[in-house]
Amino acid sequence: MTTTALDVVGGDRSTVVARINGELRDLSTPVAPEDVVEAVSVDSPEGLAVLRHSTAHVLAQAVQQMFPEARLGIGPPIKDGFYYDFDMPRPFTPEDLEALEKAMVAIIKSGQRFERRVVDEGEAVRELAAEPYKLRLIGSEGGADVMEVGGLELTVYDNVDAKTGQRCWGDLCRGPHVPDTRYIVPNAFKLMRTAAAYWLGDQRNEQLQRVYGTAWPSKDDLRAHLTFLEEAEKRDHRRLGAELDLFSFPEQIGSGLAVFHPKGGVIRRVMEDYSRTRHEQGGYEFVNSPHITKGQLFEQSGHLDWYSDGMYPPMQLDAEIDADGTVRRQGVDYYLKPMNCPMHSLIFGARGRSYRELPLRLFEFGTVYRYEKSGVVQGLTRARGFTQDDAHIYCSREQMAAELDSLLTFTLNLLRDYGLDDFYLELSTRDPEKSVGTDEEWTEATEALRASAEVQGLDLVLDEGGAAFYGPKISVQAKDAIGRTWQMSTIQVDFQTPQRFDLEYQGPDGTRHRPVMIHRALFGSIERFFAVLLEHYAGAFPPWLAPVQVVAIPVTDAHNEYLDSVAGRLRERGVRVEVDTADDRMQKKIRTAQKSKVPYMLIAGDDDVAAGAVSFRYRDGTQKNGVLVDDAITEIVDAIAKRTQV
Ligand SMILES: [Zn+2]
Ligand SMILES: [Zn+2]
Repeated sequence: MTTTALDVVGGDRSTVVARINGELRDLSTPVAPEDVVEAVSVDSPEGLAVLRHSTAHVLAQAVQQMFPEARLGIGPPIKDGFYYDFDMPRPFTPEDLEALEKAMVAIIKSGQRFERRVVDEGEAVRELAAEPYKLRLIGSEGGADVMEVGGLELTVYDNVDAKTGQRCWGDLCRGPHVPDTRYIVPNAFKLMRTAAAYWLGDQRNEQLQRVYGTAWPSKDDLRAHLTFLEEAEKRDHRRLGAELDLFSFPEQIGSGLAVFHPKGGVIRRVMEDYSRTRHEQGGYEFVNSPHITKGQLFEQSGHLDWYSDGMYPPMQLDAEIDADGTVRRQGVDYYLKPMNCPMHSLIFGARGRSYRELPLRLFEFGTVYRYEKSGVVQGLTRARGFTQDDAHIYCSREQMAAELDSLLTFTLNLLRDYGLDDFYLELSTRDPEKSVGTDEEWTEATEALRASAEVQGLDLVLDEGGAAFYGPKISVQAKDAIGRTWQMSTIQVDFQTPQRFDLEYQGPDGTRHRPVMIHRALFGSIERFFAVLLEHYAGAFPPWLAPVQVVAIPVTDAHNEYLDSVAGRLRERGVRVEVDTADDRMQKKIRTAQKSKVPYMLIAGDDDVAAGAVSFRYRDGTQKNGVLVDDAITEIVDAIAKRTQV
């Protein structure tokens, strides 16, 4: 009898696959005594992906039972779930999804084994004659998303009924899978939604129908995931942006281009003002640069070589063409800038620089435009036009380590001031195949970044070989209130741009030296950071950021005048306050203020007027009555000045 991986690892139902000599394989794989075999649990990321992908097989089987004319696309696991693409005569309806879930439960309960079978290309072509998309994958390398092919062998996975031994269904796939369908928990998976999708993501290809699903080790895990999604949906910045009247994306302007409404404008201004102040204190100098430039600049910087896909097409200016079409003067191509770096480098190079000026830190709220495909544009987090809090630091190599160190501290402290405080760091290191700069420079910069990260005492994740070709990078990943990770700040060392722009400074020894350049954006972009904060706070911004900090609510019209004077005093102290003098009843006004997530309400009736007091109501619904106006003002002004979180 042959020994299988399952025999070696034993394992209960939480073991879904094995790692054999480092590779994920089915538990039924025969193993030799010298093989290193490890159990992979459904609770690990790899095990979970196998569970989800196996569930995708069951979905595909159910689809072909219900729609025999459906043709199979691909069905990989993805974050939190899986999808499968089908060529269908019509799109799926919500009723279809319900019926498919039932059919899937029946398949799961019938306990079909996933049996691996190696086929040669001729057999595969014959077997898959009715599956044109699968056929196209044979002989291809497959992409990162493609589960079907890859590796040395072509394999088909047959679904075999445990009792009858009959083959029920099969799919071209490289695997691995769970041993049988009963490993999938019937009430721990769900079909989530459908979408149109192009074959292999290319819009020149056929349009297929994609079904997204999610699958978990237990019913409780599924429930927790659905609750999380609901919470994320409530916090969706696009939804809150409309509800709280903060910003919009007018169709007339175009996809990915936002306008900020007055309340969003206030938040944005406060964010910028505070950042400006901190940068001023941090020794940055403020510069400005235009939004468009001749193409020549981006040739020099290299962007036109390696970034042109992300740039808007050029506009040709200053051409002279006669009525008969004779070109008298060739035009010049101008581009919208996708990055500010080349312009800042021109500022550095505008005159001779001395070592005494270094580190030179140039800061700009620089608006850039990047061409994102319409499919990936997403609210403020992935827009086509946005403003970076961008700075470029030029320093000597000797200064680099200390500069990176203080920069990372500066970055984390700034993010903390905005209310994010759960971080980890990611260090992207050199890909030796493609990089400029010497070994020595890379080692020095990478070690400096690593050392500065270690000083912070935060988890450091290595992104081996993930750096851009021009230098290593550290990025700050922040967790929000519901545990989602957002990539925030990036700090990028660059050995290349100073070369391309021939930047130099005069050293203490009187000779010329090449500076090191550090790129850094702490918010990433104001728009994106705005969205992250909006979702983090679910719209309930801390007092210092709230667009309206106080709403004053009179019990009746008779108290309007009194609250006007209180509001006047608050305004004198710089507080953003409104008096609600609408025709509504007081309770309605309180609800309105709650809905707009105002931090403080000051309510006044006859007793309050007589006592020079107010009822002080907080966003969480708690209320203190008979608070002297002076005390209320002091409390509010203090909370704003201290940037308290509530
Ligand atoms: Zn598969
Ligand atoms: Zn830059």
